Amino acid sequence: MKVDIEPGSGFCFGVENAVRIAEEALRAGEKIFCLGEIVHNDLEMDRLKDLGLITISHEYFARLRDSKVLIRAHGEPPSTYETARKNNITIIEATCPIVHSLQEKIRLVLVSARENDGQIVIFGKEGHAEVIGLLGAAGEKGILVTGLHDLHKIDCTRRVWLFAQTTKNKAEYDMIIETIRRNLEKMSPGHPDNFLKVYNTICGQVSGREPKLRIFARQHDVIIFVSGKNSSNGHMLYEVCLNENNHSYFISHPEEINPEWFSNAGNAGVCGATSTPRWLIHKVAETIEKI
Ligand code: SF4
Repeated sequence: MKVDIEPGSGFCFGVENAVRIAEEALRAGEKIFCLGEIVHNDLEMDRLKDLGLITISHEYFARLRDSKVLIRAHGEPPSTYETARKNNITIIEATCPIVHSLQEKIRLVLVSARENDGQIVIFGKEGHAEVIGLLGAAGEKGILVTGLHDLHKIDCTRRVWLFAQTTKNKAEYDMIIETIRRNLEKMSPGHPDNFLKVYNTICGQVSGREPKLRIFARQHDVIIFVSGKNSSNGHMLYEVCLNENNHSYFISHPEEINPEWFSNAGNAGVCGATSTPRWLIHKVAETIEKI
Protein backbone atom coordinates (compact mmCIF):
# COMPACT_ATOMS: atom_id res chain seq x y z
CA MET A 1 0.00 0.00 0.00
CA LYS A 2 1.29 3.43 -0.94
CA VAL A 3 1.48 6.00 1.88
CA ASP A 4 1.63 9.74 1.07
CA ILE A 5 2.19 12.71 3.34
CA GLU A 6 0.27 15.89 2.51
CA PRO A 7 2.99 18.46 1.65
CA GLY A 8 1.35 21.37 3.54
CA SER A 9 0.92 19.50 6.82
CA GLY A 10 2.98 20.43 9.84
CA PHE A 11 3.40 23.51 12.00
CA CYS A 12 2.09 26.79 10.69
CA PHE A 13 4.51 29.69 10.55
CA GLY A 14 3.33 31.11 13.92
CA VAL A 15 3.79 27.88 15.88
CA GLU A 16 7.11 27.13 14.18
CA ASN A 17 8.29 30.62 15.15
CA ALA A 18 7.21 30.16 18.81
CA VAL A 19 8.88 26.74 19.10
CA ARG A 20 12.08 28.12 17.55
CA ILE A 21 12.14 31.04 20.03
CA ALA A 22 11.61 28.62 22.94
CA GLU A 23 14.35 26.26 21.73
CA GLU A 24 16.82 29.13 21.29
CA ALA A 25 16.20 30.42 24.81
CA LEU A 26 16.45 26.91 26.30
CA ARG A 27 19.69 26.18 24.42
CA ALA A 28 21.12 29.38 25.91
CA GLY A 29 20.66 27.67 29.26
CA GLU A 30 17.84 29.90 30.50
CA LYS A 31 15.06 28.75 32.79
CA ILE A 32 11.96 29.38 30.72
CA PHE A 33 8.33 29.16 31.75
CA CYS A 34 5.68 29.00 29.04
CA LEU A 35 2.24 30.42 29.77
CA GLY A 36 -0.10 27.64 28.61
CA GLU A 37 0.71 24.87 26.12
CA ILE A 38 3.02 26.23 23.43
CA VAL A 39 1.39 23.85 20.98
CA HIS A 40 -1.71 21.65 21.34
CA ASN A 41 0.20 18.45 20.83
CA ASP A 42 1.19 16.13 23.69
CA LEU A 43 4.17 14.53 21.97
CA GLU A 44 5.71 17.85 20.96
CA MET A 45 5.02 19.14 24.48
CA ASP A 46 6.93 16.16 25.91
CA ARG A 47 9.87 16.86 23.58
CA LEU A 48 10.06 20.51 24.70
CA LYS A 49 9.64 19.52 28.34
CA ASP A 50 12.68 17.28 27.96
CA LEU A 51 14.60 20.31 26.69
CA GLY A 52 13.61 22.13 29.90
CA LEU A 53 10.46 24.09 29.02
CA ILE A 54 8.17 24.48 32.03
CA THR A 55 4.51 24.98 31.16
CA ILE A 56 2.50 26.97 33.70
CA SER A 57 -1.13 27.98 34.15
CA HIS A 58 -2.37 31.56 34.46
CA GLU A 59 -2.96 30.99 38.21
CA TYR A 60 0.69 29.97 38.65
CA PHE A 61 1.79 32.92 36.50
CA ALA A 62 -0.06 35.35 38.80
CA ARG A 63 2.06 34.14 41.75
CA LEU A 64 5.37 33.97 39.85
CA ARG A 65 8.09 36.60 40.45
CA ASP A 66 11.46 37.55 38.87
CA SER A 67 11.35 34.99 36.03
CA LYS A 68 11.28 34.65 32.25
CA VAL A 69 7.99 33.69 30.66
CA LEU A 70 7.35 32.91 27.03
CA ILE A 71 4.10 34.07 25.45
CA ARG A 72 3.03 31.47 22.88
CA ALA A 73 1.72 32.05 19.34
CA HIS A 74 -1.91 32.59 20.46
CA GLY A 75 -0.96 35.81 22.27
CA GLU A 76 -2.22 37.20 25.57
CA PRO A 77 -4.52 39.99 26.74
CA PRO A 78 -3.07 43.28 28.09
CA SER A 79 -3.71 42.11 31.69
CA THR A 80 -0.97 39.46 31.32
CA TYR A 81 1.61 42.11 30.42
CA GLU A 82 0.40 44.18 33.36
CA THR A 83 0.94 41.24 35.73
CA ALA A 84 4.41 40.68 34.26
CA ARG A 85 5.33 44.34 34.89
CA LYS A 86 4.14 44.15 38.51
CA ASN A 87 5.90 40.83 39.22
CA ASN A 88 9.21 41.65 37.56
CA ILE A 89 8.69 38.99 34.91
CA THR A 90 10.61 39.26 31.63
CA ILE A 91 8.39 38.38 28.72
CA ILE A 92 9.83 36.36 25.84
CA GLU A 93 7.52 37.41 23.05
CA ALA A 94 6.51 34.57 20.73
CA THR A 95 3.03 35.79 19.81
CA CYS A 96 2.48 34.99 16.14
CA PRO A 97 3.07 38.23 14.16
CA ILE A 98 -0.31 37.73 12.45
CA VAL A 99 -2.13 37.50 15.80
CA HIS A 100 -0.11 40.43 17.10
CA SER A 101 -1.15 42.64 14.19
CA LEU A 102 -4.77 41.57 14.69
CA GLN A 103 -4.57 42.63 18.36
CA GLU A 104 -3.11 45.97 17.23
CA LYS A 105 -5.98 46.52 14.76
CA ILE A 106 -8.50 45.85 17.51
CA ARG A 107 -6.73 48.30 19.84
CA LEU A 108 -6.96 51.00 17.15
CA VAL A 109 -10.62 50.26 16.52
CA LEU A 110 -11.30 50.48 20.25
CA VAL A 111 -10.64 54.23 20.07
CA SER A 112 -13.33 54.67 17.38
CA ALA A 113 -15.70 52.27 19.11
CA ARG A 114 -15.48 54.36 22.29
CA GLU A 115 -16.03 57.62 20.41
CA ASN A 116 -19.01 56.22 18.46
CA ASP A 117 -20.64 54.03 21.10
CA GLY A 118 -19.84 51.05 18.87
CA GLN A 119 -19.31 47.33 19.37
CA ILE A 120 -16.28 45.17 18.60
CA VAL A 121 -17.55 41.73 17.69
CA ILE A 122 -15.17 38.77 17.73
CA PHE A 123 -16.28 35.56 16.04
CA GLY A 124 -14.37 32.82 17.84
CA LYS A 125 -14.37 29.89 20.21
CA GLU A 126 -15.21 30.62 23.82
CA GLY A 127 -12.25 30.18 26.15
CA HIS A 128 -9.70 29.81 23.34
CA ALA A 129 -6.41 31.49 24.26
CA GLU A 130 -6.28 33.63 21.11
CA VAL A 131 -9.87 34.78 21.67
CA ILE A 132 -9.13 35.72 25.28
CA GLY A 133 -6.27 37.89 23.95
CA LEU A 134 -8.49 39.50 21.29
CA LEU A 135 -11.29 40.20 23.74
CA GLY A 136 -8.71 41.71 26.09
CA ALA A 137 -7.61 44.08 23.30
CA ALA A 138 -11.27 45.02 22.66
CA GLY A 139 -11.75 46.07 26.30
CA GLU A 140 -15.28 46.83 27.45
CA LYS A 141 -16.45 47.07 23.81
CA GLY A 142 -15.74 43.42 23.02
CA ILE A 143 -18.57 40.97 22.31
CA LEU A 144 -17.88 37.28 21.69
CA VAL A 145 -19.98 35.53 19.07
CA THR A 146 -19.47 31.78 18.80
CA GLY A 147 -22.13 31.16 16.12
CA LEU A 148 -25.38 32.42 14.63
CA HIS A 149 -27.18 31.69 17.92
CA ASP A 150 -25.11 34.44 19.61
CA LEU A 151 -26.02 37.25 17.22
CA HIS A 152 -28.77 38.46 19.56
CA LYS A 153 -25.94 39.92 21.69
CA ILE A 154 -25.36 42.58 19.01
CA ASP A 155 -27.33 45.81 19.24
CA CYS A 156 -28.33 46.50 15.62
CA THR A 157 -28.89 50.21 16.28
CA ARG A 158 -25.17 50.73 16.94
CA ARG A 159 -22.03 50.43 14.79
CA VAL A 160 -20.23 47.08 14.55
CA TRP A 161 -16.57 46.27 13.90
CA LEU A 162 -16.29 42.59 13.12
CA PHE A 163 -13.23 40.33 13.49
CA ALA A 164 -12.69 36.55 13.41
CA GLN A 165 -10.33 34.33 15.35
CA THR A 166 -7.54 33.48 12.88
CA THR A 167 -8.35 29.77 12.74
CA LYS A 168 -12.10 30.06 12.11
CA ASN A 169 -13.77 28.48 9.11
CA LYS A 170 -14.24 30.98 6.27
CA ALA A 171 -17.67 29.71 5.19
CA GLU A 172 -18.98 30.09 8.76
CA TYR A 173 -17.51 33.58 9.02
CA ASP A 174 -19.19 34.56 5.72
CA MET A 175 -22.50 33.37 7.12
CA ILE A 176 -22.01 35.46 10.28
CA ILE A 177 -21.13 38.52 8.16
CA GLU A 178 -24.19 38.13 5.94
CA THR A 179 -26.58 37.61 8.87
CA ILE A 180 -25.26 40.66 10.74
CA ARG A 181 -25.55 42.69 7.52
CA ARG A 182 -29.18 41.60 7.08
CA ASN A 183 -29.97 42.44 10.71
CA LEU A 184 -28.41 45.90 10.33
CA GLU A 185 -30.28 46.40 7.03
CA LYS A 186 -33.56 46.13 8.94
CA MET A 187 -32.45 49.01 11.18
CA SER A 188 -30.91 51.10 8.42
CA PRO A 189 -32.53 50.14 5.07
CA GLY A 190 -30.15 50.49 2.15
CA HIS A 191 -27.11 51.44 4.26
CA PRO A 192 -26.08 48.47 6.40
CA ASP A 193 -22.41 48.96 5.51
CA ASN A 194 -22.43 52.39 7.15
CA PHE A 195 -22.80 50.49 10.40
CA LEU A 196 -20.64 47.46 9.69
CA LYS A 197 -16.90 47.22 9.14
CA VAL A 198 -15.67 43.69 8.44
CA TYR A 199 -12.04 42.63 8.84
CA ASN A 200 -10.84 39.52 7.00
CA THR A 201 -8.70 38.08 9.76
CA ILE A 202 -8.79 34.36 8.99
CA CYS A 203 -5.20 33.23 8.62
CA GLY A 204 -4.13 32.22 5.11
CA GLN A 205 -2.00 29.43 6.62
CA VAL A 206 -5.27 27.76 7.69
CA SER A 207 -7.77 28.79 5.01
CA GLY A 208 -5.20 28.02 2.27
CA ARG A 209 -4.89 24.48 3.59
CA GLU A 210 -8.59 23.63 3.30
CA PRO A 211 -8.81 23.36 -0.52
CA LYS A 212 -5.53 21.41 -0.68
CA LEU A 213 -6.70 19.01 2.04
CA ARG A 214 -9.98 18.48 0.21
CA ILE A 215 -8.15 17.36 -2.93
CA PHE A 216 -5.75 15.20 -0.89
CA ALA A 217 -8.65 13.51 0.95
CA ARG A 218 -10.39 12.68 -2.35
CA GLN A 219 -7.19 11.23 -3.82
CA HIS A 220 -6.71 8.63 -1.07
CA ASP A 221 -8.65 5.55 0.03
CA VAL A 222 -7.93 6.18 3.72
CA ILE A 223 -6.97 9.41 5.46
CA ILE A 224 -5.14 9.49 8.78
CA PHE A 225 -5.42 12.92 10.35
CA VAL A 226 -2.87 13.53 13.12
CA SER A 227 -3.61 16.18 15.73
CA GLY A 228 -3.75 16.88 19.44
CA LYS A 229 -7.23 16.21 20.85
CA ASN A 230 -7.55 19.80 22.10
CA SER A 231 -6.50 21.56 18.89
CA SER A 232 -9.51 23.47 17.52
CA ASN A 233 -7.71 23.92 14.21
CA GLY A 234 -7.13 20.14 14.14
CA HIS A 235 -10.81 19.34 14.60
CA MET A 236 -11.80 21.87 11.97
CA LEU A 237 -9.34 20.51 9.37
CA TYR A 238 -10.30 16.93 10.19
CA GLU A 239 -13.94 17.79 9.42
CA VAL A 240 -12.77 19.06 6.02
CA CYS A 241 -11.20 15.62 5.32
CA LEU A 242 -14.18 13.70 6.68
CA ASN A 243 -16.59 15.62 4.43
CA GLU A 244 -14.61 14.43 1.40
CA ASN A 245 -13.69 10.93 2.53
CA ASN A 246 -15.62 8.99 5.16
CA HIS A 247 -12.60 6.71 5.66
CA SER A 248 -10.87 9.54 7.53
CA TYR A 249 -9.59 8.83 11.04
CA PHE A 250 -8.42 11.26 13.72
CA ILE A 251 -5.48 10.12 15.81
CA SER A 252 -3.05 11.79 18.22
CA HIS A 253 -0.48 8.99 18.60
CA PRO A 254 0.82 6.34 16.17
CA GLU A 255 -0.40 3.64 18.65
CA GLU A 256 -4.01 4.62 17.93
CA ILE A 257 -3.77 3.31 14.36
CA ASN A 258 -6.06 0.35 13.73
CA PRO A 259 -4.69 -1.98 10.96
CA GLU A 260 -8.27 -2.88 9.97
CA TRP A 261 -8.74 0.64 8.58
CA PHE A 262 -6.47 -0.31 5.66
CA SER A 263 -7.85 -3.75 4.84
CA ASN A 264 -9.26 -2.69 1.45
CA ALA A 265 -7.06 0.30 0.78
CA GLY A 266 -4.68 0.73 -2.17
CA ASN A 267 -3.25 3.92 -0.74
CA ALA A 268 -3.35 6.04 2.42
CA GLY A 269 -2.79 9.73 3.03
CA VAL A 270 -1.36 11.22 6.23
CA CYS A 271 -1.97 14.85 7.13
CA GLY A 272 -2.26 17.01 10.23
CA ALA A 273 -3.15 20.28 11.89
CA THR A 274 -1.10 23.48 12.03
CA SER A 275 -0.05 22.36 15.53
CA THR A 276 1.13 18.88 14.47
CA PRO A 277 4.91 18.54 14.23
CA ARG A 278 6.25 17.25 10.94
CA TRP A 279 8.31 14.56 12.72
CA LEU A 280 5.12 13.05 14.15
CA ILE A 281 3.47 12.96 10.73
CA HIS A 282 6.51 11.05 9.40
CA LYS A 283 6.37 8.65 12.35
CA VAL A 284 2.69 7.91 11.64
CA ALA A 285 3.46 7.34 7.94
CA GLU A 286 6.25 4.90 8.86
CA THR A 287 3.91 3.02 11.21
CA ILE A 288 1.35 2.63 8.42
CA GLU A 289 4.03 1.48 5.99
CA LYS A 290 4.98 -1.32 8.40
CA ILE A 291 1.32 -2.45 8.53
S1 SF4 B 1 -2.65 29.75 12.28
FE1 SF4 B 1 -1.86 31.62 11.35
S2 SF4 B 1 -2.31 33.23 12.84
FE2 SF4 B 1 -2.50 31.29 13.93
S3 SF4 B 1 -0.49 30.96 14.79
FE3 SF4 B 1 -0.50 29.91 12.81
S4 SF4 B 1 0.34 31.42 11.36
FE4 SF4 B 1 -0.25 32.52 13.22
